[in-house]
Amino acid sequence: MRAGTSDDNMMLQVSDVFCKRLPKVELHAHLNGSLSTKTLRELANLQKSLSGSDDAVWNIQEAIIEHGQKRTLEECFQLFGIAHSLTTTPAAVYKATQDVIKEFADDGVLYLELRSTPRSVPGVMSKAQYIQAMVDAIQNSTDGQILVKLMVSLDRQQGQESASETLDAVLTAHSQNPKLIVGLDLSGDPMKGSLTDYLPSLAHARNAGLKISIHCAEIPNPDEVEKILDFHPDRLGHCTCIHPLYGGSQELWIKLLNSHIPVELCLTSNVKCGTAESYKKHHFIHLFSVKHPVVLATDDKGVFSTSLSEEYMLTADSHGLSREQLWQMALSSIDYTFASEEEKNQLKDMFLQIKQLSDVQ
Ligand code: 5GP
Repeated sequence: MRAGTSDDNMMLQVSDVFCKRLPKVELHAHLNGSLSTKTLRELANLQKSLSGSDDAVWNIQEAIIEHGQKRTLEECFQLFGIAHSLTTTPAAVYKATQDVIKEFADDGVLYLELRSTPRSVPGVMSKAQYIQAMVDAIQNSTDGQILVKLMVSLDRQQGQESASETLDAVLTAHSQNPKLIVGLDLSGDPMKGSLTDYLPSLAHARNAGLKISIHCAEIPNPDEVEKILDFHPDRLGHCTCIHPLYGGSQELWIKLLNSHIPVELCLTSNVKCGTAESYKKHHFIHLFSVKHPVVLATDDKGVFSTSLSEEYMLTADSHGLSREQLWQMALSSIDYTFASEEEKNQLKDMFLQIKQLSDVQ
């Protein structure tokens, strides 16, 4: 009997098992939105045992009941508050980070860039300690299969003073851990705050050697998109409302395509928040069909009850992609990471070895 070839592989149906086994790269995951129900429960119990109160447990129960349902963007942002109420100490941030890393590793993710907005809690935790807790959790992660990097987020709703505080903390931490802390992200409620307030901090971080990713066009906002593209970040998040069919314009769309900036696409997040009408009508297909660099991502796997394997499966299902197309998409994602060239080459070797093994199975 002859061994299967890549051609045979292309003919095979994409399945859940295939997507789970596919080696994957996750480049857009927010720590507090990625917490599983199990982690939320454990953190709530930990908090209860320390404080004697069970308010947080009630909040979690409500969140779990609603888990996985469609929500407006506004409701999603309320939900982040529940996770935030549980990650208020360095120990909780450490546990949250370790749990999320393990869950991504169990899902076949070989490279993860985890992002989070450092918070200070008076008398308990500074932003620097929040970042350090994540660094420690990444360094002590026992799963040797996954390479993890940290991106620090600025929340566009928190104002310039908070952004420069975060910037100071991240630059200090970056100078101590230059290989581990790789980037700065601008996120937060797109209906609040002004991009221009944060561009100086983003430029400062870029000059200090950090890569930049900006959440872009989650709601129609042509002026802002124009400014983001002129800034030319290393990656863009979402880009939902740039195509003329989805609240953008031909001019902006062409500008995005000409920029060649890789776009992090989170289908379930966009569909569940209602910013994309359906998986089939997601702007993924417009970018994919013109070979614009894209990477599939989960955004908030806890809030949206998804996994990166599911994102690959849903994308293949809705757009008729083959196994080979998924392989190529997963492999090319490595080029869009903020890892070193050496790490990228090692990852590509690993992916290709896994591919060769699966081709002969
Ligand atoms: P954290 O940064 O606290 O670890 O993760 C949750 C935070 O990430 C949210 O409070 C929000 O600022 C940001 N975030 C998570 N998902 C999204 C999203 O889909 N869009 C935007 N703009 N921000 C998000």
